[in-house]
Amino acid sequence: MAPALLVADLHLAPERPAMVDRFRRFVAREARGAAALYILADFFEYWLGDDDAADPFHAGLLADLGALAGAGVDVAFMPGNRDFLFGGDAATASGIRLLGDPTLVDLFGVPTLLMHGDTLCTDDHSYQRYRSIVRRPLVQRAFLALPRAARAAVGRGMRRTSEVHTQLKGPMIMDVNRGAVEAALREHGYPRLIHGHTHRAARHEHVVDGRICERWVLADWYERGGYLRCGERGCEAVTLD
Ligand code: MN
Repeated sequence: MAPALLVADLHLAPERPAMVDRFRRFVAREARGAAALYILADFFEYWLGDDDAADPFHAGLLADLGALAGAGVDVAFMPGNRDFLFGGDAATASGIRLLGDPTLVDLFGVPTLLMHGDTLCTDDHSYQRYRSIVRRPLVQRAFLALPRAARAAVGRGMRRTSEVHTQLKGPMIMDVNRGAVEAALREHGYPRLIHGHTHRAARHEHVVDGRICERWVLADWYERGGYLRCGERGCEAVTLD
């Protein structure tokens, strides 16, 4: 049976042509033969509102995903901290499914919890504060009512602030909190967990209430890119060149 492929943190932007090329090769080759492609967020470097779907760069990427969906691949997209404003309109128009965070799915008989991963980084208090504000419906409505140029300026400012903060924070603060991981696993019945966001590709095992749970962290696409291939015999990480 064709596998399910999972990716996250591609951070695709016009300024990163090598990453865009790598994504196009991935779509044309590996993803074509898959049963499903799960994109666990931060696919776009930024998404300022669904009028971004008309931007030629974003339109091209959505067309790639749409073509994949048209070829019979179940393409599912979970918006994350960079592209959380990606809404239903853009998804419907391109024929892809929108996923909530978290989403529990059955992958070849194994209950699997899909998350972006930022909600697990509970030691990063300033980020969680920021997140709780920008996810408020009123704040989002006010932001989306701004002209696109103003939204772009706000977005640039926020990315700069986030870069500075990232450099100042210790590495432990930027990683997931073990208690938050265990709580998510417990709440969802001890599934396998797959997430991105931290850019620390790895396979972990957590023992929660005597149950062993596998946790896969997806690779980012800054240097090389990669994906997780899950099938009947479990998951394996694949690196792209
Ligand atoms: Mn992220």
